[in-house]
Amino acid sequence: MTAVLVLNAGYERLHYVSLRHAIRMLSRNVAVVETVAEGRAIGPWQRPAVVRLVRYVQMRWRTRAVPAWSRKAMLKRDGHCCAYCGGVATTVDHVLPRSRGGADSWINTVAACGRCNGRKGNRTPGEAKMRLRYQPRVPSWHEILSI
Ligand SMILES: [Zn+2]
Repeated sequence: MTAVLVLNAGYERLHYVSLRHAIRMLSRNVAVVETVAEGRAIGPWQRPAVVRLVRYVQMRWRTRAVPAWSRKAMLKRDGHCCAYCGGVATTVDHVLPRSRGGADSWINTVAACGRCNGRKGNRTPGEAKMRLRYQPRVPSWHEILSI
């Protein structure tokens, strides 16, 4: 079954639901169709691709779950700002290098420019005598989802 994207009343992306669930939301008047999908109408409703909640919902569940780490999301967390020199960062630096068991995780990665990343190489910041301008941290959903 096709998944339908649910937006909060403020147009933030929330999650996906089944088409059946989306239709139920429309029938209970808790959501409206924001974008129409191809295909025939379902009862009085156009087939939705995206629905938007009528009332703003604070999604508490988001604070329980940690956003998944990804290279793209991590660079976004750090504002594409190099953790070592403050320049424009396009690469991921593993604080404890991957070759030495460092994980692809929020608290082991920082954004870095190619130059600093190359200079640090296979060392920890301490070994390379490079100071982190900020400590890696787990971001909030809000940071990751906001555009
Ligand atoms: Zn740098």
